[in-house]
Amino acid sequence: MSQPSTENYDAIIVGSGPGGASVARELARRGLRVLVLEQGSAAPLQGTLSQMAGIAAVPGKGAFIHRDASLLVSGVAAGGTSTINFATAAPPPLAMFAAHDIDLAPMLASLRAELPMGPLPDDLIGPMAKRIGQGAEARKLGWRKLDKLIRPQICRTGCWRCVYGCPFGAKWTARDFLDEAIQLGATLIDQAKAERVIVENGRATGVCYRRDGEMRQALGANVVLAGGGIGSPRLLHRSGLHAESSAFFSDPVIAVMGVVDDIDGGAEVPMAAGMYLHEEGIALADMTLPKPMYQAFAAQVGRFDRLMSHAQTLTLMVKIRDDIGGAIGPRWVDKTLTAGDRAKLATGVGMAREILRAAGARKIFKSWHFAAHPGGSLRIGDAVDSNLQTTTRNLFVCDASVIPESWGLPPTLTLLCLGTRLGTDLSA
Ligand SMILES: Cc1cc2nc3c(=O)[nH]c(=O)nc-3n(C[C@H](O)[C@H](O)[C@H](O)COP(=O)(O)OP(=O)(O)OC[C@H]3O[C@@H](n4cnc5c(N)ncnc54)[C@H](O)[C@@H]3O)c2cc1C
Repeated sequence: MSQPSTENYDAIIVGSGPGGASVARELARRGLRVLVLEQGSAAPLQGTLSQMAGIAAVPGKGAFIHRDASLLVSGVAAGGTSTINFATAAPPPLAMFAAHDIDLAPMLASLRAELPMGPLPDDLIGPMAKRIGQGAEARKLGWRKLDKLIRPQICRTGCWRCVYGCPFGAKWTARDFLDEAIQLGATLIDQAKAERVIVENGRATGVCYRRDGEMRQALGANVVLAGGGIGSPRLLHRSGLHAESSAFFSDPVIAVMGVVDDIDGGAEVPMAAGMYLHEEGIALADMTLPKPMYQAFAAQVGRFDRLMSHAQTLTLMVKIRDDIGGAIGPRWVDKTLTAGDRAKLATGVGMAREILRAAGARKIFKSWHFAAHPGGSLRIGDAVDSNLQTTTRNLFVCDASVIPESWGLPPTLTLLCLGTRLGTDLSA
């Protein structure tokens, strides 16, 4: 038996990552009564390995292992995956959304004016990113600083804690929007897992969720699923409103690493600079990660001889726009690379090797592929319409699931635009 809700909300939002937090904030700004249900914890970020592992490395929760032994990672916490992401802001693919009559340009303009977003000043770019940049420039590649959602006045030289969840408030996360929504009157219930959408007469009227082992109910005029590329299709399926499995994209990544003799580093913000080959769907960037993550890459491919070389190892990320495929099911997530995906990765790895060699690196090796951008599992034009509404009235999806095509670039800023737009529409 579930406990009935005492309050009737204007909107119930499931999930508090960039998609959910931006809808919540926009609705709260306009005075609507908002409830956010988040299965993860809202405990303050500490920037520790143990907290990050709880957010993103629990098998079947934040971490999903495919049959080919590759790993897919996402975050389970208030703020969603943004708590542990690399804070890179890529401009949204406006044309991709315009093809569905969605104009994200006005939201992008207002978010640009508001967010702490821009390239890092030189003093916050670490020696490894600088050396990789020199290698790329020597090869005459169009390497440039990437926009970061980081407050440079708070960020510290020689710090890498943003990767585990910045405890200093230097990295923007969806918690910033969530906090604003709460200050404006929204309610956040953390450690509350939505189990089912309540539907009456073809219209969503609430959500059944589990907290402290008890089933409860919340009722609302609108329900917005923002559980991320994996969470939302699963919840729709559990509610009997979607097929058992959904194909998806995940932007697979390979880390390419090489050792240099004259740097003693390893503590810096990853993805300070990079390049994107749009036609080819290949992105490259520096990716210096904390020692345990580097060691996991080396151990995974049997390079035990390299476990202690973290402070001298330059790491490049090769990320591709993969084909939509595989399956997100009720209890599994699985995807194998297509021949086209493998060819893109091989091209990118070849370029990364060249850059590393030009940067003076030796003993170059690569990791197995992994991924961190599950999306496209409830695509606009397929599972939802241009208003992000499902075939069930008053039931919307607003997260990486709705991205209509695989894109290959970091999606956070795009999701903030989509969430701001949906919040505006729902309060009209
Ligand atoms: C290591 C790493 C680095 C990254 N770097 C970048 C980067 O530099 N730039 C960038 O733009 N992107 C980056 N990303 C990806 C980016 O963070 C995500 O694409 C983005 O956060 C997705 O937002 P979302 O709103 O779709 O879902 P998420 O941020 O995943 O949030 C979904 C939330 O919903 C909750 N939830 C799910 N199901 C339920 C349920 N049934 N009940 C209650 N709650 C539920 C989850 O716990 C989660 O907190 C990175 C990702 C990783 C893993």
